[in-house]
Amino acid sequence: MTELSYLADMPSAYERAFRARVVARPPGAVVLDRTFFYPTGGGQLCDLGTLRGPSGAVFPVVEVRKSGESVTHRLGRPTPSGAPQPLVGETVEGEIDWTRRHTHMRLHTGQHLLSAVLFELGGLKTRRAAMEGLGGTIDLEGPWPSSVPFGSVGPRLRTFLDPPREVRIVQVPRAEWESHPAPRSGAIPLPPHVDPVRVVEIDGIDRCPCGGTHVRSTAELGLFEPSEPQRQPGGFDRVVFRLSEAPAHSDRVTP
Ligand SMILES: [Zn+2]
Repeated sequence: MTELSYLADMPSAYERAFRARVVARPPGAVVLDRTFFYPTGGGQLCDLGTLRGPSGAVFPVVEVRKSGESVTHRLGRPTPSGAPQPLVGETVEGEIDWTRRHTHMRLHTGQHLLSAVLFELGGLKTRRAAMEGLGGTIDLEGPWPSSVPFGSVGPRLRTFLDPPREVRIVQVPRAEWESHPAPRSGAIPLPPHVDPVRVVEIDGIDRCPCGGTHVRSTAELGLFEPSEPQRQPGGFDRVVFRLSEAPAHSDRVTP
């Protein structure tokens, strides 16, 4: 079993380096007792980076996947070449590719914000989201209503970027979450075993259960704009968005 250390709170999403113990070695990979590497899931791609073994050899982490209760880190060729993989029980030092991770955090918070605005203005929930590179797609539960000009989405979105809004991670007991159902922009039901519910709040607009990594302020999103909805086979609409390059300050973002 791997502790998902990036889930704990907002500062955990900004941890770029950590130590952990190897608990299993499936072929070409290691399982750690805890990890800050995000495994692919929920529309968000996995983190990449490196693991340094006790001998000093550095292994690129080329894929991170959830496998039951564990997280598998698949390793590439080490430097120096031929160095043996870390053994079960040994401590490794993980380092996350921050440029990639921070882009994923910006994308995921941007998706929540856009989903919330689409729900607010068009009354449509998001049934699927996917993010890659600097862009993402939001599949709505139906067609965008013809009575609502889609051009109103961008200006409404920008009111949450300037002035920036705080983004928070809160743990809410399941019973409390069920008894105060906030208007929900997500259409995916919570699995029955989830308790407490990890809720991502964007101040003043959205509360959404989520296991992803997020930025702590919409100031880190930069400007972004959705394109017109595209009708998909099945009759629902897809909204595509793309972030600007990383805001100038993102390299200075520190835990
Ligand atoms: Zn999410």
